[in-house]
Amino acid sequence: MNRIMHGVPAAGGIAIGPAFVYRPEMPEIPEGPVDDIPAEQARLLAAIAAVDRRLGELEAITAGQAGDTAAEIFEVHRMFLADPAISAKAADMIATEAATAEAAVVAVTGALADEFASIGDDYFAQRAIDVRDIGQQLVRELMGLGAGGLSEVTVPSVVIADDLTPSDTMSLPEGTALAFCTKEGSATSHAAILARSMGIPAIVGLTNLDVSTGTTVGVDGDAGLLYIDPDPEQLAALRKKRGQQVRLLTVAAERASEPAVTTDGHRQEVVANIGSVTDAERAERSGAEGVGLLRTEFLFLDRGTLPTEDEQYEAYRSILEIFGDRPVVVRTLDVGGDKQVPGIDLENELNPFLGRRGIRLTLAEPDLFQTQLRALLRAGVHGNLKIMFPMVATLAEVEAARAAVDTAAATLDGRGAERTASFEVGIMIEVPSAALIAGALAPRLDFFSIGTNDLTQYTLAVDRTNPTVATIGDPLHPAVLRLIQMVVEAAHTHGKWVGMCGEMAGDPLAVPVLLGLGIDEWSMNPPSISIVKDRIRSWSTDAARKVADRCLRASSTAEVRDILT
Ligand code: PEP
Ligand code: MG
Repeated sequence: MNRIMHGVPAAGGIAIGPAFVYRPEMPEIPEGPVDDIPAEQARLLAAIAAVDRRLGELEAITAGQAGDTAAEIFEVHRMFLADPAISAKAADMIATEAATAEAAVVAVTGALADEFASIGDDYFAQRAIDVRDIGQQLVRELMGLGAGGLSEVTVPSVVIADDLTPSDTMSLPEGTALAFCTKEGSATSHAAILARSMGIPAIVGLTNLDVSTGTTVGVDGDAGLLYIDPDPEQLAALRKKRGQQVRLLTVAAERASEPAVTTDGHRQEVVANIGSVTDAERAERSGAEGVGLLRTEFLFLDRGTLPTEDEQYEAYRSILEIFGDRPVVVRTLDVGGDKQVPGIDLENELNPFLGRRGIRLTLAEPDLFQTQLRALLRAGVHGNLKIMFPMVATLAEVEAARAAVDTAAATLDGRGAERTASFEVGIMIEVPSAALIAGALAPRLDFFSIGTNDLTQYTLAVDRTNPTVATIGDPLHPAVLRLIQMVVEAAHTHGKWVGMCGEMAGDPLAVPVLLGLGIDEWSMNPPSISIVKDRIRSWSTDAARKVADRCLRASSTAEVRDILT
């Protein structure tokens, strides 16, 4: 029966095909008691090793198909698997209660997942899903049931499920997933991130989702609409939209490495947001003219200790060498908020997004900061380095961060080490206070880069990890646009350049307003580069300025979106 269901758009695009309804079932668990405790513990360890091997394979496959950021999900799973909070506790339970390894795994992972889920925060809700996923995989391994997941999908299908774990998602044979539709999840859930990296549409939050396997469905990932058994008219409309999108994408992809020049001849610099050396190679192939944001957190993940100066130097050097003369903006460590890294003990804070985050943390940990700055200045010899500080709110932080760079340079000179003397220093504009005093900050800096993800969160008081307020946190709100305007004007008055590296820079809809506001550099995830360049090529700066003026005068996000669509 023909029906249309509304959900939350999580990854754009159109797909039409048969539904594959996925309902994983947990096998019945043998309860024990077991007689041979050491043998049962050995079985547990063997299962952990086998699942770790499989996750390592999935990590490599995901890195190849969807990039490093997507593959990090499996890195996190492997960290949990290695964590004594799971392995040692389960082994203890086998010893003290003569429990089977299966029962111990279910109890320990279930308790940990419940603990995460009870925190009531989107980040920890995702970790609860991760831990349950690991528990299921261990039980299947212990019972000799293999990986399970979606490996039985044989024809290209729209995968429908209550929720999808990363291992479910990546167990799909390559090319068989046309789209993902789930009852649960938010636009930041793993399935959504993987869908975006794989370039397939996804809709989440489809409550009352009720479809049978084999039914034809249509997915409009841009509008968040699922058409069940679409009628011929709906099918024709979906096919037409898909055809237009494919044509646009193909034309854009063919010209990805050409510059983005407006119709009146103004060239825009389009660069990439990256998070690793592999990302740098992919970005280069996607037409990036440099890097506008290197998130250095990757160097600090998946390890128990902090990376040394030499380890950091090697990684930064590799990335700078890939881009040669082209700019590479490296952001100093940005942890705190929802981001944790092993080796740095963050205190429990009631409001971590308003706590010791970004530059506040690195200024409070001079050893950590100096090590990173020395590695950067040494690596800067091999490319076009720009150092950028995150989460700056005050002029005092700018002064302190600049002084820290001078100290690192003096230490290297004292050592007689080779280092760059020609590099730029800038900050991210993510806090409204920094936007409002941009005129006072600009003389002390070479550039600004606007981080709209955080700027939106702090301007509209919307926790970026909380799905229940996600629709309020829209960077196209006129308040955010006015802050961007102030920053651009302040920078240009002082002869400095201004970029944008928040997600907004990669949104094709935002192109005219950003062009009209006058940003100089656009930094985005590599898959968006070709399409944004193409949109820039279709505008004149004059026409874009008129659009920006109208948007600035609007009184709501809805009004701005109306102007832009
Ligand atoms: C931002 O806040 O816009 C940004 C690019 O930084 P991150 O998303 O890493 O916080
Ligand atoms: Mg940020």
